[in-house]
Amino acid sequence: MQIKVVKFGGSSLADAQHFRQVASIIKADPARKFVVPSAPGKRFGSDTKVTDMLYTCYSMVKNRENIDEYYKLITERYNGIIADLGLNFDISGELEYIKNALQHRSGRDFAASRGEYLNGLILAKYLGYDFIDAENVIFFKENGSFDEELTNKVMSEELKKHERAVIPGFYGVMPNGTIKTFSRGGSDITGSIVARAASADLYENWTDVSGFMMADPRIIKNPASIKTITYRELRELSYMGATVLHEDAIFPVRYANIPINIKNTNAPEDAGTMIVSETNEYDTDRIITGIAGKKGFSVINIEKDMMNGEIGFGRKVLEVLEDNEISFEHLPSGIDTMSIIVSSTALENKRDKVVNSITRMVKADSVTVEDNLALVAIVGRSMVKAKGTAARVFDSMSNAGINIRMIDQGSSEISIIVGIEDHDFEKALDAIYNEFVK
Ligand code: ASP
Repeated sequence: MQIKVVKFGGSSLADAQHFRQVASIIKADPARKFVVPSAPGKRFGSDTKVTDMLYTCYSMVKNRENIDEYYKLITERYNGIIADLGLNFDISGELEYIKNALQHRSGRDFAASRGEYLNGLILAKYLGYDFIDAENVIFFKENGSFDEELTNKVMSEELKKHERAVIPGFYGVMPNGTIKTFSRGGSDITGSIVARAASADLYENWTDVSGFMMADPRIIKNPASIKTITYRELRELSYMGATVLHEDAIFPVRYANIPINIKNTNAPEDAGTMIVSETNEYDTDRIITGIAGKKGFSVINIEKDMMNGEIGFGRKVLEVLEDNEISFEHLPSGIDTMSIIVSSTALENKRDKVVNSITRMVKADSVTVEDNLALVAIVGRSMVKAKGTAARVFDSMSNAGINIRMIDQGSSEISIIVGIEDHDFEKALDAIYNEFVK
């Protein structure tokens, strides 16, 4: 029998009506055995996510403010869901315990994690599934990093004991027993960890959009959706700013070769986007899978005559960055020039020091910094098979009057990255999208 792990985001569990929808999705397929919920999200535009309310409680206690009134709002949200579902379930003891812990300055992560914990309890009760507390199956190491090995071992053993279960997302436990969360949006990671431990056939990630779009809908109107994308393509796009799935959620399932299906809770019949490790499906029509980009980069330009023959030049330059704890994004080089692209924020307050150190280390003729660079990534596995893709990218940009300041095509040929002026960013995305997607 197939096993599917299903994760539901906060907007999919914002109120009782969504709980009903989620339950009907789960019950529609007996393979949906393990369920990972987020905390209740926004019910309407100006609403507040429960996770944010819990962070606020934590700050209020820290500032010695009284949380009685504010905590009531959290209580009302959960009790409202329980009442609307007609559940005979009393969580007042849990709510009281959490309030007390908050007032006694339990940690910030503990506070935030209770959103998922309570939602998990309610969902388990509503579905008639077992509840597995994430603090017993997800582990972090002393240094705060995720303990993949221990988690996978303990979680797999635990899952075997349950026919069907709910495991709350977002948190786990430190070696000293305190609760720790992943970064925001981290329930996606929990879902992926559970999928790996369950040796699932599929990890379904249910959210409020029908999968990934080919471009940011805030910039391109009604972009086409992506049917299938490989993990590697997705890495490139999410690194460049495309969101929907937490970046770190890819790794656990990628190891285990489990596909992820991004689905829409409000339109379950939509196919959504399938994320796979490899595929023979090439899009010969569109060639590209997606476009994404970010503003806010700077270029450090280094010039020195006869640079190309100088052994150790690159190492010395990169050592300066390392000493200043700056990671670089790209390194396009010419014969006597080398350019390093870094995020402008990483360079903040270190600019003069970096320029002077590089000048000194390699006896450069000149070292200058230019700001306001945007990077655009054109990503697609089908590019390897198609001729003239780069030419089409550059032509479309030049026809739109955009000046290209940098080009980088990795040897894997799944992406082309171009650097342009910040102010040309939207225009560039538009030009490229229109060239490839008709
Ligand atoms: N509730 C957490 C957040 O708002 C985690 C999640 O939803 O994935 O970030």
